[in-house]
Amino acid sequence: VADAFPKAAVLSSALTDWRATLGTQYVVGEGPALDAANRACCGRTGAVAAVLYPADAEETLKSLAIGRTYGVPIHAVSMGLNWGYGSFQPPKGRAVVLCLRRLDGIGALDPKAARVRIEPGVTYGRFASRLQSDAPNLLAPEIGAGPDASVLGNALAGGIGKSPYGWMARRLSDIAVAFGDGRIERMPTLDKSGLGSSAADGVVLHADFHLCVAPKYHTLAWARLRDGGEAFASAFHLILSRGTADEPCEQCEFLNGARLRRQSRLWGGPSCQSPQAGWVLGLRIWGHDEAEVRTRADRAQRELASLPTLSTGLVGPERRVNAVSPDREGLVSAYASIGCDPPPDADPDRDGCGVRWIAAFLPTKTSAAVAALDALGVCALRNGFAPALVVRLPDGDPIGILGLFWNRRAPAAHVASADSRAARCAAECREIVDRFGLTPHRYRSG
Ligand SMILES: Cc1cc2nc3c(=O)[nH]c(=O)nc-3n(C[C@H](O)[C@H](O)[C@H](O)COP(=O)(O)OP(=O)(O)OC[C@H]3O[C@@H](n4cnc5c(N)ncnc54)[C@H](O)[C@@H]3O)c2cc1C
Repeated sequence: VADAFPKAAVLSSALTDWRATLGTQYVVGEGPALDAANRACCGRTGAVAAVLYPADAEETLKSLAIGRTYGVPIHAVSMGLNWGYGSFQPPKGRAVVLCLRRLDGIGALDPKAARVRIEPGVTYGRFASRLQSDAPNLLAPEIGAGPDASVLGNALAGGIGKSPYGWMARRLSDIAVAFGDGRIERMPTLDKSGLGSSAADGVVLHADFHLCVAPKYHTLAWARLRDGGEAFASAFHLILSRGTADEPCEQCEFLNGARLRRQSRLWGGPSCQSPQAGWVLGLRIWGHDEAEVRTRADRAQRELASLPTLSTGLVGPERRVNAVSPDREGLVSAYASIGCDPPPDADPDRDGCGVRWIAAFLPTKTSAAVAALDALGVCALRNGFAPALVVRLPDGDPIGILGLFWNRRAPAAHVASADSRAARCAAECREIVDRFGLTPHRYRSG
C-alpha cells in the first residue's frame, strides 16, 4: 500500500546496493528512462519508483533479497507491456519494478511432448521465429498485443491467446517461482487466471510451455447480426450450446459495431464503418485436413444462417502459414485514437494511445450476459467513451471486455481529464460487475 513505501533515504541505500549488484546501467532510478517507465497508456502513472533489470536468476534472487532487507515493495514484470491493464505500473501503491526482460532463454524443445522451457524475456515474435526454424510443425502462439509482448508475462497475467491456444496460463507447467527469502518453489500448473494471488510476491523465473501441432487449414465463418440485444442473445446462446471442440479447434469472438469500427477487420473477415452497426460474430475453424475443415465450415454456416442476421460470409478454407509476426488488428484499435496505423515497433505507452480494458467473466444465462454487457456499454457512454465491446470465448469460457480508447497526445489538461474519466469509468464498471455477481478479470483499481 502507498504509505508502506519507505522514505527516500532508505530507497537511496537500496538503490546503491542494487547498483553494486546489477551494474549501474541496469538500475533506473531517475531521468527520462524512469519517466518512460511511468507512462502507461491506461492513464495510471507515477507509481514506479525505480526499475531493475537483472541478468539472470541469481541476480533476480539478489535483487529480491535487497528489496526485503530495506522493506521496498517489488513488482515483477516480464516485458512490462501490460498495455491497458497497467503497463509497468504496480497494482497498488508505489513499488520498484523488477523487469525480467534480460532473462530470455528458450530451452531445448522436447519434440515428443511438444514442450519447451521459456524465460520471462521470451517474446511472442522471437518464440515464433525459433519455432519456425526448429519445429515448423508446432503452432506459434499469438495475441493481439503484437510480437514484443512476453509469452510468459502474458500467461502469468491470465492472458488470452488469439489462436487455438485460448487461456495461455493453461499451457504452462513446472513453474519456478522465486521469493525474497531465497526460496524457489515449483508450481506444477496454473489456473486460467494466471499467477493471481496463488504466489503473491513470487517472481517467476521460468516455466515449461506446451505447444500444439500447427493445423494446416483454417477458415472463418462470420455473421453480421441484426441490431439489438435479441439477436446477440440468440447468437450467444447458439455459441454456448455448441460446446468446445478438441484441438485443433474452433474459436469464437463477438465484436460490437463500436469496437469493429476501431479496427480494420475481424480476423481478416468483415470490417465495419456504419455508426448504427450491431454485433458481428466470427467463428474460426482450424483443422489438419482441408475436407474436414470444409465440412465443419458448412455446418457452422448453416447454424449462423439460422440466426437473425443481416449478412453472413465465409473466408477460406485457406492453407495456414505459421506466422512469425502476429496479426496487428488489435493494435490498430489502440492507434485509431491518435489517427494513425501502428508502427512496426508499436508501443501505445510511448505513442500516446489511451487504452484501458475492463474485463469480466460473463454468466452463461443469456439474458444476464446481455444485461451485463448493456450496463458496461452504458457506463462507457456516460463517461464519454464509445461502448467498444468484445466477447471472447477462450476454451469456451465467455468473457466480456470493454475497451476505453482516447488520445493521450492531447494537451496535458485534456489528458489528465480523460485519464481520470477512464479511471472513474473503470471503478463504476467494477461496481456493475459486482452488482451482477460476475468475476472480474485482470482488474486493477486506480
Ligand atoms: C491493442 C492491444 C491488444 C491486446 N491484445 C491482447 C490479447 O489478445 N490477449 C491478452 O491476453 N492481452 C492483450 N493485451 C494486453 C497486454 O498488452 C498483454 O496481455 C501483454 O501480453 C502483457 O504484457 P507482457 O506480456 O509484457 O507482460 P508483463 O507486463 O510483463 O506482465 C503482466 C503482469 O503479469 C505479472 N508478471 C509478469 N511476469 C511476471 C513474472 N516473471 N513473475 C511474476 N509475475 C509476473 C505481473 O503482475 C505483470 O504486471 C492487448 C493490449 C493492447 C493494447
